Amino acid sequence: MNTKKFLLQEKDIPVAWYNIAADMENKPRPILNPATKEPVGEEDLYPLFAQELARQELNQTDAWIEIPDEVRDMYKIWRPTPLVRAYGLEKALDTPAHIYFKNESVSPVGSHKLNSAIAQAYFCKKEGVTNITTETGAGQWGAAMAYAANAFGLELAVYMVKVSYLQKPYRRSVMQTFGAQVIASPSMSTKAGRKILTGNPNYQGSLGTAISEAVELAIQTPDCKYTLGSVLNHVMLHQTVIGLEAEKQMEMAGEYPEIVIGCFGGGSNFSGISFPFMRHKLKAGKDIRIIAAEPESCPKLTRGEFQYDFGDEAGYTPLIPMFTLGHTFSPAHIHAGGLRYHGAGAIVSQLRRDGLMEAADIPQLETFDAATLFARTEGIIPAPESAHAIAVAIREARQAKEEGNRKVILFNLSGHGLIDMAAYDQYFAGDLMNYELTDEDLEVNLAGLDRIITQ
Ligand SMILES: *Cc1c(COP(=O)(O)O)cnc(C)c1O
Repeated sequence: MNTKKFLLQEKDIPVAWYNIAADMENKPRPILNPATKEPVGEEDLYPLFAQELARQELNQTDAWIEIPDEVRDMYKIWRPTPLVRAYGLEKALDTPAHIYFKNESVSPVGSHKLNSAIAQAYFCKKEGVTNITTETGAGQWGAAMAYAANAFGLELAVYMVKVSYLQKPYRRSVMQTFGAQVIASPSMSTKAGRKILTGNPNYQGSLGTAISEAVELAIQTPDCKYTLGSVLNHVMLHQTVIGLEAEKQMEMAGEYPEIVIGCFGGGSNFSGISFPFMRHKLKAGKDIRIIAAEPESCPKLTRGEFQYDFGDEAGYTPLIPMFTLGHTFSPAHIHAGGLRYHGAGAIVSQLRRDGLMEAADIPQLETFDAATLFARTEGIIPAPESAHAIAVAIREARQAKEEGNRKVILFNLSGHGLIDMAAYDQYFAGDLMNYELTDEDLEVNLAGLDRIITQ
């Protein structure tokens, strides 16, 4: 009998995260203070982040960073996650390719985000922090942080973009179940929120506004830190448990992936699945294709520019060297809310610039075609974000069939879609559409960039 899923034991949970920056020949450029254009130092990050997280953010020398036992103990609740051979999907596609997926949807909140939330909550707790703040759009990160804060006895305030607060009540309920205080943003609880509401009482909110509210509260509250669920180097670091487990599981399967795929918002699950394999490419010259799957409507890696840009819409964060569509870019309202972000993290951006990875942009309807085929053949309803990775895997498997090539494909299933069924409803009703970014819109957004990188 063929093996369907490859399972590790609790003792096989990785003991260290993989810090790819240490192995990169061209290190990512430093993040800059927007006022002085000087590199930001570790201490500059202390007011916002736990000190250990600030250290991890700037560490470019240690390839392995030990995972504390307390974090590994929490990981045991759902890790190691299964690696699954997608026989059903292979059969439906009639492809000679072997398709594997790492199933991160089995986490208690249904996505990979908990891998970093647990780590961030742990380091905050260890340093005497009592309160944390964060923002959330569609609610996946907020749900993960709520779980983690509860696990380590921290108070959490989540600023949730108002339109999502009203339209996605179930992720709000998940956060409240774990004891988080959820505030619709903009709110009257911060100066930033009050200023916006005074001018425009009906403003439906944005991630940029929610970030400024969460940051303001963190800076003004004693023993309070801010947390972020993607983009930053320390978040990518924590997510490498995904790929480190998958590395062992592919060995159990007796195969080696020639193509590794992750969907791409700010880069955390993509980095998680791919960096441990990228390591083989950097250190041993392995020939692997690594592909980021992004929405056609938000194509920073396929059509964006490599420049210094702000991490948020409002321009409060340091300047990050990134592939960007411009921080004022407002992506179309596709259902993959977690992929509606204008830029890519600094490490991924450098790897992309150095030609070590590829990117593909996928129209919304193709992602839902892929999602339904996957649900009907593998039995798991994927998150709309994860469906981008599935769509690229399907493209590659079809290509393999044309070429008569038995290639091995691995993708990350970053989450399930059970709280995203409204999106599926619209797809079945024929109400979903594709949104291609026009060259004119792209140019308008990029024109606002302060072009610090000149070569
Ligand atoms: C948040 C999210 C993403 C996108 O974020 P990354 O940091 O790019 O991984 C993808 N999939 C799911 C299920 C998410 O919740």
